[in-house]
Amino acid sequence: MSLSLQDGRTLCIHQDAERTARSIAQFSEKDARTYVKAAAKFKEYMDVFIAPATYCRPHPAMEAMAKMNSHEIGRDLQALQPMSPRAIVEELFENEHVRTFFLYASCMWGLDYDLEGLGFLVPLYLNRAANYRLVVGGTHHLAHVMSKVLYKNGGMIIGPKPVSKIVIENGRAKGVETEDGYYYEAGKFIVSSLNPHQTFLELVGEKHLEPDFVVRTNDYKWEKTSFFHVHMALTEAPEFKAAENNPEVAKSFIHLFDYESYQELIDHFDAIRMGEVRDAGFNSCFPTLHDPSQAPAGKHTILLEEFAAPLRFFSEKDWLKMKREVVDHMLKDWQIYAPNMTWDNVIAHNIQTPLDVAYRHPDMKEGGWAEGAMMLSMHDRFRPVPEIANYRIPDVKNMYICSSNLHSCGGIGRGSSYNCFKKIVEDFDLPKIWEEKGREY
Ligand SMILES: Cc1cc2nc3c(=O)[nH]c(=O)nc-3n(C[C@H](O)[C@H](O)[C@H](O)COP(=O)(O)OP(=O)(O)OC[C@H]3O[C@@H](n4cnc5c(N)ncnc54)[C@H](O)[C@@H]3O)c2cc1C
Repeated sequence: MSLSLQDGRTLCIHQDAERTARSIAQFSEKDARTYVKAAAKFKEYMDVFIAPATYCRPHPAMEAMAKMNSHEIGRDLQALQPMSPRAIVEELFENEHVRTFFLYASCMWGLDYDLEGLGFLVPLYLNRAANYRLVVGGTHHLAHVMSKVLYKNGGMIIGPKPVSKIVIENGRAKGVETEDGYYYEAGKFIVSSLNPHQTFLELVGEKHLEPDFVVRTNDYKWEKTSFFHVHMALTEAPEFKAAENNPEVAKSFIHLFDYESYQELIDHFDAIRMGEVRDAGFNSCFPTLHDPSQAPAGKHTILLEEFAAPLRFFSEKDWLKMKREVVDHMLKDWQIYAPNMTWDNVIAHNIQTPLDVAYRHPDMKEGGWAEGAMMLSMHDRFRPVPEIANYRIPDVKNMYICSSNLHSCGGIGRGSSYNCFKKIVEDFDLPKIWEEKGREY
């Protein structure tokens, strides 16, 4: 990942912490030394605590506390918990460009910069910034391969058919009705990958639920930010000006642009919350520089991503109007760093606003990406509400929920479905594959 400045300097995070330190040292020797120590610690936090915790169900409160207290890393993470990403970044680093870079990397996956209570996630996101991964052939390959496994094992995918009702009889989930009037009977159980409002209030229905649970579900909070996503097909790869001094910048997986100061980034975060649209920084990725199979020979693809307000702030008309404006300003700003990024270089483009996300994923209610805000009161064993943090619905037998509104939040590798699978395996006495030799989780 890299941050480019208009004066041609770049700051790069490499997988190798020493190389990252050499890049940071252009800005601050002290920050470079701090980074090497912090990166080693964060890797240990990931390996020992954070990654394993992602792929198991949340522990009961007392058990979790005892586990954390009994281990040095657990105690370190507890010390970070009350701190906001901003406080952690400012405690670690002194230089404003270094701070900008690491605050962005801490918050680009949904943490609010001043949110207190989830500070232990900052090491996760900073470790991730040095370890991004791309699915060869494009992300759709992952879904296709998974669907092949499903069919091979006798499963079937029926769609697109929105589910309009989950039929409950005598406390059991019996089947689902779809909007076109079909009814599908459940063999053994039903698993919902939809948000809590859809699953409980719209599809199951309040009459099957405890009143307190309904109140808490109604109180479920949505994300405060979303993104504009612009996908482009390009005639030629970007010619980075900064690559003249630092050829490695061209190989960066994620490029961050247009934040010349720390305050600009903070102001951008604040503006989004207030529903303001401004010409601000964004990040960008060129999949074809790393995986040429994603475009015809010699051609390229690009993804541009800029923070946006949640869906509720603007009307449909406003979002549609913003589409062209956002692409225009991104391309204009891009040309400061890579002059050949003009409309002449663009073969085709597609922009997704929060409105498009919400149309395609009705479960992403505010056009976000994690079916709900990341905050302490909706985290871990409280996500989405304590009664169902165990992936099973208490008032209805044989009904489960597996989506990113459960531990451990959004992202394609974040474990909620796997954790739900583990719960089903236990309930139905199936083989516990995670106990097989050689498996970590
Ligand atoms: C634009 C965008 C970019 C992202 N980029 C990344 C990334 O780079 N890396 C990463 O790790 N994560 C990324 N994410 C996040 C990741 O995709 C999500 O966190 C993840 O998909 C959440 O999984 P889920 O099962 O909870 O919801 P979903 O993936 O949304 O699955 C729920 C499915 O249910 C369908 N549905 C909704 N309502 C109904 C209904 N009534 N009946 C039937 N079906 C219904 C939806 O259409 C959807 O297909 C991105 C998300 C978005 C929106």
